[in-house]
Amino acid sequence: MEIQKSTGVVLSSRHIGESDYFCTIYTKEFGKRDFVFKGLRKSRRRPQIISAPGTAANLVYYFHDGKASYIVNEYNIIKHNLNIRDNLKTIYLLYYILSLIEKTTGYNDKNKAIFELVSAGIDNIAGTDFPEHFSVFFALHLLKLHGILPDFTICKICNKSDYNGFIIDTMDFHPVCTNCAGTVKNKTIPLHKTAKDFIFESLTKRFSSIDHSAYPSSHILDLLFAITLFIENYYHVEIKPKQLLLNELSG
Ligand SMILES: [Zn+2]
Repeated sequence: MEIQKSTGVVLSSRHIGESDYFCTIYTKEFGKRDFVFKGLRKSRRRPQIISAPGTAANLVYYFHDGKASYIVNEYNIIKHNLNIRDNLKTIYLLYYILSLIEKTTGYNDKNKAIFELVSAGIDNIAGTDFPEHFSVFFALHLLKLHGILPDFTICKICNKSDYNGFIIDTMDFHPVCTNCAGTVKNKTIPLHKTAKDFIFESLTKRFSSIDHSAYPSSHILDLLFAITLFIENYYHVEIKPKQLLLNELSG
C-alpha cells in the first residue's frame, strides 16, 4: 500500500451505501480510475461538489495494486462548473464529452493529451455559442488522439478528393462520396460538403479561430450524430447523453 496523489476530472459518479460516492475520474498521472469518497453525504465539512461530473480536483488516496477502486483520504477542488447548471445545452454538452472520455478509454491507460483535451473542453463549454460545433470539434480531436481518425480528404472507394456530399462508413469512419455510397453497407445519413470542410477546419485550426457561423447548425448536427454512431459501433458502448444533447440542440 502506498499513498498516491493525482489530479483528475470527475467523469461520472453515483451513491453507494448510505453516504459514500463512487466516482470514475480521469487522472493526469494514471488515466481513468475509480475512487470512493467515504461519508461524503453526511459530511458538512467536505463539499459534495467533488462528486459532480466535470469537477477537477487534487486527490490523495491509498493505492493498492490489484484493487479496482481507491479510497480518497483528502482532496481539494481545483475547479467546478456549477455556473453552467442553469443551461440545459451546456449541461448535456458537458455530460456528452465526459461520456465520450469514459466510454472510449481504458483503466490505468495514461494519456496526458486526453487529460488536457477534457480539461480544456470543460473550460470552453460555458463560453461557446456553438455547442454542436464544439461537440464535433471535441469528438474529432478525441478520435485523433485515439489514432482512429482517417484521411477525410479522399473518398475511401474512388480516392477522389473533390467530393462534395458524402456518407461515413460506420465500420471504419472513412468518408465515401455520394457516387460510391451505394457500395457501403453500414453508413450514416448523407452529409453535406460543409461537414467535410468543418472537419478539415477542426483539425487544422483552434476552435476560436473557426468562423462557426459559416457552418449551418443542421449540417453540424448530422455530423455529430454520425460521429457518435461511429464511436458507439467502434467501442461497443452507448453514449447515453447523446439523445438528450441532440434533442436539445435541434429543438
Ligand atoms: Zn467515391
